[in-house]
Amino acid sequence: MATVAKQPVLTRPTGAPSMVPRITPREELNPFRIAQIQFDIAAEVLKLDPGLRQVLRTPKRILEVSLPTKMDNGQVKVMTGFRVQHNISRGPGKGGIRYHPNVTLDEVKALAAWMTWKTAVVNVPFGGAKGGIICDPKRMSKSELERMTRRFASEILPVIGPDQDIPAPDVYTDSQTMAWIMDTYSMMVGHTVPGVVTGKPISIGGSLGRAEATAQGLVYVVEEACKVKKISLRGATVAIQGFGNAGATAARLLADKKAKIIALSDTRGGVTNSRGIDPIKAIRYKERSGTVVGMPGASRISNDDLLTMKCDILVPAALENVITLQNAEAIKARIVAEAANGPTTPHADEILARRGITVLPDILANAGGVTVSYFEWVQNQEGLLWDSDEVNVRLQKIMVRAFHDMLEAMRKHHVPPRAAAMSVAVGRVAEATLVRGLFP
Ligand code: GLU
Repeated sequence: MATVAKQPVLTRPTGAPSMVPRITPREELNPFRIAQIQFDIAAEVLKLDPGLRQVLRTPKRILEVSLPTKMDNGQVKVMTGFRVQHNISRGPGKGGIRYHPNVTLDEVKALAAWMTWKTAVVNVPFGGAKGGIICDPKRMSKSELERMTRRFASEILPVIGPDQDIPAPDVYTDSQTMAWIMDTYSMMVGHTVPGVVTGKPISIGGSLGRAEATAQGLVYVVEEACKVKKISLRGATVAIQGFGNAGATAARLLADKKAKIIALSDTRGGVTNSRGIDPIKAIRYKERSGTVVGMPGASRISNDDLLTMKCDILVPAALENVITLQNAEAIKARIVAEAANGPTTPHADEILARRGITVLPDILANAGGVTVSYFEWVQNQEGLLWDSDEVNVRLQKIMVRAFHDMLEAMRKHHVPPRAAAMSVAVGRVAEATLVRGLFP
């Protein structure tokens, strides 16, 4: 059974003034505005020079492309895609590609910025980038997705490459998507280039452990946080919002640690059982019926109710802006472990911190994915093949070290976890930018 910590170390010092500016409700939910607010807080903590702040809070390069795609019925549909490189001071751009009807340029800009801070907080030698296509992948056939993906790969070809910018999977893209991009790129340059993308199928240079990496990294960070907060993971209750790769794998790995998964959800709704849900059964049920809703042995719950249910660990594992001013006061978890990117708005963040709820921020909690992407890229560049033990030992070392870097920054600057992780990351990128100097 989980125990209560007498003095939770991982919370914000009480009485500290708000660091979030007054913003309109519309701005409150704009991901790029949010990313900039989070950056500004770290820049203030570090007392960064105003010129440097301007450099680091703006994306370096934005590419917008039109993607004429032949649909199966013979008609042509033109989708819009983006690739944004936020910062490449510490190494090539790195970040996933997202397929979703609600993709916007501001969202991709935010996601690219978060990748810059994510690669820096785990200290892998990459910058930050992200891509997205406005499309509805659930209503597209595999061959339509292949044609659109190949066209996108050819359109962004001038800005990607193993030394330039390396895409990976994100929401509604997977290893097959990466295989198409790798093949298109390789065909166009005339030789096979595995290192142009990560998250590939194993048969063409993917890394063992990459598919589980986001969730595995999250579990390593949650384990460290539980030690600090004196919560036993064994028997701890867990609610997971979102049942894609990150959410479903997190459910499985946390259940392996004997945590009790008391609620799960996907876009169609959620299921709950206070005695625990078997994630393997949920995964199988979802494979058959397309949703966890209706699985035997659990009752129905809405996504909103899942977020506010009493549990030890809440894992938002879907999209941005699910913990907001609207529900932050009602969150009852003790730890919020962000498997998704940007699930908590800055105002909600402050409310959670004031209420003693520990937020393990996205740039740390979900950085396992990009960390094993880095391992995949290293193996591709060097012609190496690591076994899964080697991958996971290295991953754990990096995640645990990053967690403790964050903890140290919390103590040093007296700030909550996100501002601390951001200050570690921004500090590293600022240092790289300064030492390189300004061109020309
Ligand atoms: N899309 C993942 C993320 O948001 C992985 C990115 C990568 O591996 O490059 O971190």
